[in-house]
Amino acid sequence: MRVKKTLTISALALTAVLTMAGCSSSGDDAAEAPEVEQTEFAAGSTMAALQDAGKITIGTKFDQPLFGLVDADGDPQGFDVEIGKLIAAKLGIAEDGITWTETVSANREPFIESGEVDIVIATYTINDARKEVISFAGPYYEAGQDLLVLAGNPEKIEGPDDLAGKAVCTVSGSTSEKNIAEYTTDIIAAGGYGDCLEPLRTGAVSAVTTDNVILAGLADQNAPEFEVVGNPFTQEPYGIGLAKDDTDFRNFINDTLEESYDDGAWADAWENTAGVVLDTPEPPAVDRY
Ligand code: GLU
Repeated sequence: MRVKKTLTISALALTAVLTMAGCSSSGDDAAEAPEVEQTEFAAGSTMAALQDAGKITIGTKFDQPLFGLVDADGDPQGFDVEIGKLIAAKLGIAEDGITWTETVSANREPFIESGEVDIVIATYTINDARKEVISFAGPYYEAGQDLLVLAGNPEKIEGPDDLAGKAVCTVSGSTSEKNIAEYTTDIIAAGGYGDCLEPLRTGAVSAVTTDNVILAGLADQNAPEFEVVGNPFTQEPYGIGLAKDDTDFRNFINDTLEESYDDGAWADAWENTAGVVLDTPEPPAVDRY
């Protein structure tokens, strides 16, 4: 991941740059709504059931800038949200047929297993432990775990090896929580990443850790208080969580992702959201495991 230079400038200057460029960091005036399609799905499939209902419930984060953040009107905005709209449109469901449900790191598998949500798109790393209980389409993005520190990096933390004996804040139920346990035992596990910012401000922790792109969004939102160290030490392929072994639905979502790579919808979704702060990457190959 390369963070655009705008990340390091002040929020005021960023606003000026974005105004000149004719775009908004909120993503409010982001992409036009994707075209709702009418496809004939196999009877009995999840796709047919959702299409007939005209409704889908999607779990996403509500507190993560760039990927899933609720705006002043109560509507979530971000790259994950745009991916959700693309999938809904391919199911014949317009935006007003989407119910957005907040999922935090710790409740994503339970929400899928209980049927509380149809899918989860929430900076959700594909891994084998999670695949025991749910299935994943994707990946549609690849992040890496990194560290957020105070601006100027007063403790000179260059990577996780510098964290021995230091307190770190992360989020309960995340891969970040598991991964960082290799480097320090002094871990605060919060409910959401935003909850880690005050402990970092006050010096209660030396760093916040999770995926680089989540940290980049928090740094941008709170500029110029924090900086991302920029030394990712894991691979976090983001997938779309769905009910375990619903292979037809998983194939449909994978097909939808691949189409969005080809027709430019994925790149548009990125550029209108996370791309305001981060460079546009190449989309990763989907993994039809
Ligand atoms: N991508 C990681 C995970 O799925 C960390 C980010 C998050 O907590 O959403 O656990």
